[in-house]
Amino acid sequence: MENAVGEVVARSSRYETAPWGVTNQPAFLNQVLCLATGLSPEDLLLATQATERQLGREREEKWGARTIDVDILYYGDRQIHSERLIVPHPYLPERRFTLVPLAEIAPDFVHPALGLTNRQLLEKCADTGEVRRFGRG
Ligand code: ATP
Ligand code: CA
Ligand code: CA
Repeated sequence: MENAVGEVVARSSRYETAPWGVTNQPAFLNQVLCLATGLSPEDLLLATQATERQLGREREEKWGARTIDVDILYYGDRQIHSERLIVPHPYLPERRFTLVPLAEIAPDFVHPALGLTNRQLLEKCADTGEVRRFGRG
């Protein structure tokens, strides 16, 4: 992502996470990055989709296994509801696999619509899916 969209400011550990939504499938690997970018939200989405294609993304079913998936969780404190882009990511508060790495690198960042920090969102989250550190980082 670094060359494609800007500079990596922080990166979480990698986590092995239980599948969410479609649960009868192998575990996923998840990581959250904080980036400084000069791209607009729409251009950032296009860049992440180009990176997904370069890495050979293939997927059969919604929420099923794929080689790579890059989602935009926040874009500063912007709130976006366009046809192609919803920011903050709508499922962010419901996913431990997102909130655990987010709270690792940005525990005090406040969700611009909900007014809660990532740490508070994690404490409130009812998802019990397993999220554990993978390797050494
Ligand atoms: P989920 O969004 O539930 O994590 P997914 O990542 O599997 O599901 P995709 O098939 O990767 O879904 O993306 C479908 C569409 O979602 C994309 O084409 C994109 O236009 C749209 N989209 C809306 N908001 C976002 C966002 N914040 N980040 C990435 N894609 C988004
Ligand atoms: Ca996703
Ligand atoms: Ca996606």
